[in-house]
Amino acid sequence: MASSPSIVWLRDDLRLADNPALSAAIERGGPTLVVYLLDEDSPGARPLGGASRWWLHGSLRSLADDLAALGGRLTLRRGAASDVIPSLVAETGAGAVYWNRRYGALRDVDAALKVSLRADGLVVESFGASLLHEPWKITSGSGDPYRVFTPFWRACLAAGDPRPPLPAPASIDGLAAAGDDLDDWHLLPTRPDWAAGLREAWTPGEAGALDRLERFIDEGLPLYHRRDEPGIEATSRLSPHLRFGELSPHQVWARVHGPLEPAAAANRAKFLSEIGWREFSYSILFHQPELATVNVRRDFDAFPWGEPDPAELEAWRRGTTGIPIVDAGMRQLWTSGWMHNRVRMIVASLLTKNLLIDWRVGEQWFWDTLVDADEASNAASWQWVAGSGADAAPYFRVFNPVLQAERFDPDRAYVRRWVPEVDGPEYPRPIVDLAASRIEALAAYEAVKAAK
Ligand code: FAD
Repeated sequence: MASSPSIVWLRDDLRLADNPALSAAIERGGPTLVVYLLDEDSPGARPLGGASRWWLHGSLRSLADDLAALGGRLTLRRGAASDVIPSLVAETGAGAVYWNRRYGALRDVDAALKVSLRADGLVVESFGASLLHEPWKITSGSGDPYRVFTPFWRACLAAGDPRPPLPAPASIDGLAAAGDDLDDWHLLPTRPDWAAGLREAWTPGEAGALDRLERFIDEGLPLYHRRDEPGIEATSRLSPHLRFGELSPHQVWARVHGPLEPAAAANRAKFLSEIGWREFSYSILFHQPELATVNVRRDFDAFPWGEPDPAELEAWRRGTTGIPIVDAGMRQLWTSGWMHNRVRMIVASLLTKNLLIDWRVGEQWFWDTLVDADEASNAASWQWVAGSGADAAPYFRVFNPVLQAERFDPDRAYVRRWVPEVDGPEYPRPIVDLAASRIEALAAYEAVKAAK
């Protein structure tokens, strides 16, 4: 049993159960320092959007309480990991550092740190904790990453069951170091406080995540075949919990393979394949860390995106386009920090195709406003809708928001909920002619075809 302390550096894994880095530290023995860094300084770090900052505050608060209940402490520090982690090692005399892996640009920070800490004689280990399968293990026959979802997911399923989740530790011999007060990070909005709708909709933290999973198993999963209907609660809303790692996909996988009612069991495979889209997004990010800025299909670099019309962009952001399903989605997003998947596709199609605004503008708005804003899934999904991404919908497939609403919100429950004035005289006329703008979009796409 080691007598020197271990450091567990938490990032997108704000949980105690199924946390391999935490379990490794406890198994090593000796005191454990658990640290979270607010790192906006490392190369490749993207500052969190407002809704994510709100979520992070709640999640860290909950984690600190959960740790304290087991005898642990959460230390908060701010700054670049390459400075803060070595100084924590020096302050505590730690002999080991553990973390769970990241898959985007910041993995270079982790790799460099691992080399330098090991050179100083420390034990440093990283673990797979947020994906069912490590991206470098799922490759096509030729060894290249998959570009199409269906064979990717088939390969994941063929790779066998993911490891079972680990239990939460029974107790922690906690060590603390001097750190920041969470409130001093000012993650919560104050003037104005726009978070009332978020507080009403969500409970950040591990307990809230497990609660949400159980509720979904009982109420949502039996209805999951109707997941495309935004007016009913048929999807899990686990996305922000998975984003911050309050719950791992291994826990979801294990629960969904546990006892289920027949109606829920019938939807198991479909639900897991959506978790598969998350894995696919991370696989794309792993092979292209600059996914939020660079087209996956480089022929799209020739696409003639227009300069956004400020009034049109503002109407899209605020949900005043005069297109009811779009306005409903954008208001759901602004109010609750979340939007139904089908509607995300519709609003993204309107922005990139009917308004010819660069997908990166939409990606940034979602980054700021979604509680589940995710470096892999957000960028990959925007590129998917825009046509520039992996396994993307062909550009010429332009969603018609009127037909989409008729098909997926036939009783208009969703639109009426978020746009109560929709049938009144004050509701605006559409800001864009859908038929004419579709033809313009197809003409603009010719530039991509010419660039091939
Ligand atoms: P469920 O249907 O219950 O699915 C379960 C889980 O699977 C989700 O929580 C999520 O982790 C994952 N998942 C489901 N669908 C997808 C998908 N298409 N791609 C990747 N993962 C998926 N998802 C995010 O988590 N973060 C984002 O920033 C994000 N941005 C998006 C932007 C656009 C333009 C679009 C079209 C989709 C985006 N998605 C994003 C994917 C999807 O819309 C959400 O994951 C889903 O709506 C979350 O709701 P849920 O948890 O109820 O999903």
